[in-house]
Parts: sequence; C-alpha cells; structure tokens
Amino acid sequence: MGVLFSTHPIILIKIKERVLVSRTMQVAQDMTPFKVAIQFQQRSAEIHALQIQAYNVAEQRLKEHVKNNKTGKRPAVVLDLDETVLNNLPVVAYGYENKIDFTNWGEEWEEWVDAACADAIPGAKDFLQVADEQDVKIFYVSNREVHNKKPTIKNLEKLELPQVSEDTVLLHGEIGTKEDRRSKIRKEYEIVLLVGNSLYDLSSDFIQETVDEQHPIVKEQAEEFGNRFILLPNSSYGDYWVDANLEPWK
Ligand SMILES: [Mg+2]
Repeated sequence: MGVLFSTHPIILIKIKERVLVSRTMQVAQDMTPFKVAIQFQQRSAEIHALQIQAYNVAEQRLKEHVKNNKTGKRPAVVLDLDETVLNNLPVVAYGYENKIDFTNWGEEWEEWVDAACADAIPGAKDFLQVADEQDVKIFYVSNREVHNKKPTIKNLEKLELPQVSEDTVLLHGEIGTKEDRRSKIRKEYEIVLLVGNSLYDLSSDFIQETVDEQHPIVKEQAEEFGNRFILLPNSSYGDYWVDANLEPWK
C-alpha cells in the first residue's frame, strides 16, 4: 500500500503551478492532523464566519475602489474558485474517510468536478451579486484544468452566480499561469480586487519556495490585505506550509 491520503494532493499540485508530486509523497502517514485540518475547515463556525467576514470586507472595498477608479478602464474583480467560491470539502472528507491513495486521487477529483455539485463558499454569492450590480467585470481565475471547464461552468451556473461564461472562467491550460491570465485581464480592465484562499491567488510575488520566504513579502505588502487583497482561510490542503516544521517552546 502506498502513502495514505494527503491533504488534497491534486489541488496541492495544481495551485502552485509547479510539480509537487515529491512533496505529496513526503506527507506523513499519521492521518490525525489531516482530520483536524478538515474538521476545522468543513465544520467549524469560525471558518464560516471568516469567509463571511472576508466577503463583507470585499464588498465594502469594492464599492470604494469602484468609486475611486479614475483609470478610465472598467473595474474588474478576480476570484479564485476552489475554497474561495466553491466548497470542495465534501470530496476532501470523502478522501480522508476512504484513505484514498494519492495516486488514485485524480479520478476522485475528476468525478467530483464532473458532478458539478459544490456549494458556494458563504458570502461569495452576495458579494458577486453586488459586483454585478456595480457593473464590475467578474473573472473566475482557477488552476482547475481546462478540460474541467464545462462542468466547472455548470457548477457555477447551478449556483446562479453572475457573469459565468467561457470568457470569464479562465482555467489552467488555456492561458499560461494565473499571473499571465491576470496580465491579460489588466490590458482591458482595472483589477480593483483579488479574492483567493492562497497568497498566489493575489499576486505572483508570493510564488516562493518556502513559508519562510513568504512571510517577509506578506509583511511588505501588509497594507494590501483587506484592501485590494482579500484572503480566505483554508486549512484543508497545505500548499506551502504542509511541510513546515513546528516551532515549539524550549
Ligand atoms: Mg483555491
């Protein structure tokens, strides 16, 4: 038997736009930390409150930025999808419960995406409706693969989210990296707000090798958080920090 289920490895691989297979293989076989991480993300009221809080702030900032936008370009917002707009925790929990070997996880993820049954993250729909009412262009920029485009659009349409189309849902494999997609958007629009659950959803400045490299960049860009950058919590798949050593007292 191979390594036990890790924290959503397919997404872990995709969101960094780098090969992280070797990192995934290093995940410990003790399942307990993953269960706690998934419980917190899926069931805690604090996470739901933080998601709502993020979107409440996003709505306020959006109105201000739209009002103050003197660039002559139409304002736009860019949102990540997984764990930002779409809640994938049911499939993460399913993986945990079934101890799915990471080498088989791709199939499970594809089935989940094809089912197009993810719920919206709390607060997301209300925010998107406000953006739509404010005549702000909405882009959904995700590292789901381009072959996932149809079911992804179907899922977003099922949730009755605004401005969902082939042109506004931009996935991995159609235009370069997330930063490439954002650059293309900037040619025509003023991106007034970026919303994501990973720092890289907000800026390519954060695509660093380690958490230690990310921390000073967060500090440098502190003023952007809660302003142009809106970050949502996600404990359920590790991205950069899954391998970080703890720093215990003594
Ligand atoms: Mg995400």
